[in-house]
Amino acid sequence: MSRVLIVEDEEAIAEIEKDYLELSDFEVVIKSDGTQGLATALNEDFDIMILDVMLPGTDGFEICKSIRERFDKPVLMVSAKKDDIDKIRGLGLGADDYISKPFNTQEMIARVKAQLRRYMRLGAMNSESMQDSIRIGDLYLDKHAKELNVNGESVHLTATEYKIMELLMSNPGRVFPAEEIYERVWEEPYYNADNIVAVHIRRIREKIEI
Ligand code: CA
Repeated sequence: MSRVLIVEDEEAIAEIEKDYLELSDFEVVIKSDGTQGLATALNEDFDIMILDVMLPGTDGFEICKSIRERFDKPVLMVSAKKDDIDKIRGLGLGADDYISKPFNTQEMIARVKAQLRRYMRLGAMNSESMQDSIRIGDLYLDKHAKELNVNGESVHLTATEYKIMELLMSNPGRVFPAEEIYERVWEEPYYNADNIVAVHIRRIREKIEI
């Protein structure tokens, strides 16, 4: 179970975030004061942090800067002010993503999950195969040429189809949820993406199935 620290002084918002995160099986800790939030962030173990910007005590920007040396896990910042959002994007505070208020809870959850998956991927990256080509049965993937061969015949794939094949062939035997395929190939949070992955998988099947 992933642990989330929410630092948010508006109780109603913190409670909504908590409810939705708990429904998605997260363990949630809420701090409503920035200084307490910072102390908690430094003394306890969390997988991800959701930081409001305007807080009593230490503000979200200060918290983000202070924890960055020791906390390499994802930090999402939340703000209603356009100036803040510009600052989060521009200043290299070390936030991984931001959510503007008022936010859609489904989107908030999608962003939290995407950041956690991205974080886990960074760790998994080194263990993933670094080889130049992969052969699985009749399929041969040449990573240099970005080419797929089926039974020795080159198959034309679009760039997206190639990325999907590379992902799947690099992890033989692993089952990927559509959500994860989408985020790793399209590099965006899976939100309102509906059938797009299924459509691509179907096209790939038509090309590679004999
Ligand atoms: Ca606030």
